[in-house]
Amino acid sequence: MSFSSLGLSEQLVRATADQGYETPSPIQAKAIPAVLSGRDVMAAAQTGTGKTAGFTLPLLQRLAENPRTGKGPRVLILAPTRELAAQVHDSVALYSRYMPTKSAVVFGGVKINPQMMKLRKGLDVLVATPGRLMDLYQQNAVRFNEVEILVLDEADRMLDMGFIRDIRKILALLPAKRQNLLFSATFSNEIRGLAEGLLDNPVQVEVAARNTAAESIKQSVYPVDQSQKTALLSKLVRDNGWEQVLVFTRTKHGANRLTQKLERDGITAAAIHGNKSQGARTRALADFKQGEVRVLVATDIAARGLDIKQLPQVVNFELPNVPEDYVHRIGRTGRAGESGHALSLVSADEARCWRALKG
Ligand code: AMP
Repeated sequence: MSFSSLGLSEQLVRATADQGYETPSPIQAKAIPAVLSGRDVMAAAQTGTGKTAGFTLPLLQRLAENPRTGKGPRVLILAPTRELAAQVHDSVALYSRYMPTKSAVVFGGVKINPQMMKLRKGLDVLVATPGRLMDLYQQNAVRFNEVEILVLDEADRMLDMGFIRDIRKILALLPAKRQNLLFSATFSNEIRGLAEGLLDNPVQVEVAARNTAAESIKQSVYPVDQSQKTALLSKLVRDNGWEQVLVFTRTKHGANRLTQKLERDGITAAAIHGNKSQGARTRALADFKQGEVRVLVATDIAARGLDIKQLPQVVNFELPNVPEDYVHRIGRTGRAGESGHALSLVSADEARCWRALKG
């Protein structure tokens, strides 16, 4: 199977070839024809499955079929975090490089004025976090009357982060006649409720079983006393020569503390969490991607949706509070079609809690 056999234009196929993609991933093979057909789509897909291209490529094609007449936006993509919004926008820009399509991304934590200027110039695709989008709307910087396609990316996390009210407000402002695409790693009852009100006879796309991890990820557990975890992590990083490892902690404070201890052990590390400024988060991620920082320590919310290519190693320094987060965390390892390793350092107390949760 090839991207062109799915019905994508030569410009889009060329853009995927530039990225070195040879064949569509399973989610792409299913989602691309569904989106091209104009129907609503409800997709169960985690980060790492190629889901972003799965909705971006066909929606760009649909836009190209009718040129823009007004100021737009014609496509609205909502994402839960700044990082994810920025990554989705990078994909939009990358895949539309041979097309006249204009796009922008807006998120909170940075100045609003430059975003207003961008919107004033007119655009086809707008990627946004819900809170900032509502701020912009309230300041008359954006209108929704030309929106033809709405994408909710990582909808489960948007609900977890308390965006449901903003999302509902935005939905109420959109033209009734539009195409809706909903992507979520998990399908809780709350998501199903949202989907019911939003989607009209959707095509359902599912690649991995509900709430299970991608098969290409090797998972292991290391039983260890809480007090020995930092020393063990330092040793594992050194002994295994891990050059790029993403480590999860449960709290922001824990992330800072672990980062400091690793640095003291001579291992370059940076923390990424909600209390860090946008600049600090972007810098930490860039340093990590470039190999200047060996260990990136993250909380669940900050790490959600991070697209770090070919990340071989993820460590759960502490287990998350809920099983869904475990699935999201280990989804950071490997990329479409490649395997990775997720290691959990588990104390006796944590093991007890998880057994209770399972029972
Ligand atoms: P996503 O699940 O959208 O976050 O994508 C995960 C990663 O897979 C990204 O780094 C993409 O660049 C990459 N990717 C997406 N589609 C393909 C494909 N068809 N073949 C190989 N890699 C891909």
